[in-house]
Amino acid sequence: TPLLEMRKITRRFGNFYALKGVDLTVYPGEVHALMGENGAGKSTLMKILAGAYSASSGEILIDGKAYTLKGPKEALAAGITLIYQEINLAPNLTVAENIFLGSEITRGGMVKRRQMADEAQQVIDRLGAQFSANDLVNRLSIAEQQQVEIARALHRNSRILVMDEPTAALSNRETEQLFALIKRLRGEGMAIIYISHRMAEVYELSDRVSVLRDGEYVGSLTRENLNASELVRMMVGRPLSDLFN
Ligand code: ADP
Ligand code: MG
Ligand code: MG
Repeated sequence: TPLLEMRKITRRFGNFYALKGVDLTVYPGEVHALMGENGAGKSTLMKILAGAYSASSGEILIDGKAYTLKGPKEALAAGITLIYQEINLAPNLTVAENIFLGSEITRGGMVKRRQMADEAQQVIDRLGAQFSANDLVNRLSIAEQQQVEIARALHRNSRILVMDEPTAALSNRETEQLFALIKRLRGEGMAIIYISHRMAEVYELSDRVSVLRDGEYVGSLTRENLNASELVRMMVGRPLSDLFN
């Protein structure tokens, strides 16, 4: 059964429909790529999933149960973490403080510093990351900061991890490390929604690809049926050969 179903999601900004009844079905333990040209509605759809935007209409089901994601807190509690293109950490706090940021409230009390660092270090070690829980975030590379965001998601027991073009600022080596980590998380049953324009990345990582075009859901391809020219046709709405005429 699907972990996540988004049904007939519509989002209007004034008179403009950024999403026009989009469907998205995601299974546990899959990397689900989300593709589409700039402006297709990918980020808007994921912001709705993460509770950062509300939908004008539509339904979200997690484990078959209807959810009304009223805000980011509800989405986090539902097991959804969105990692934006821009890093979303407090730069002057430690890794441990960032991992715990916001979770004191849900635990009903402050967590002791020492306990916080120990717990954070366990998650960091699980990722195989090279920094320490007590390091300041502003001393870390972009790739490491991204790992802190993933560590925070694991610490919150997120089951759906959304990454919006995560390799844009990474070196080849850092990209390889991120891919290894994504594959490991997939093996642990996490669902990863992966927004990318890069065909090679989508080929390497994805079990399923869904395509949006002009705010509409065009369709999905599974790994076995992946076909670059078909994907391009889905994204731009006409055959690849037309682009050269
Ligand atoms: P993508 O991520 O696929 O590039 P977006 O979801 O960012 O696309 O944007 C889809 C469309 O919605 C674009 O035309 C964009 O200009 C518009 N849009 C996104 N956010 C807003 C907003 N807050 N206000 C008005 N228009 C928006
Ligand atoms: Mg964009
Ligand atoms: Mg976007």
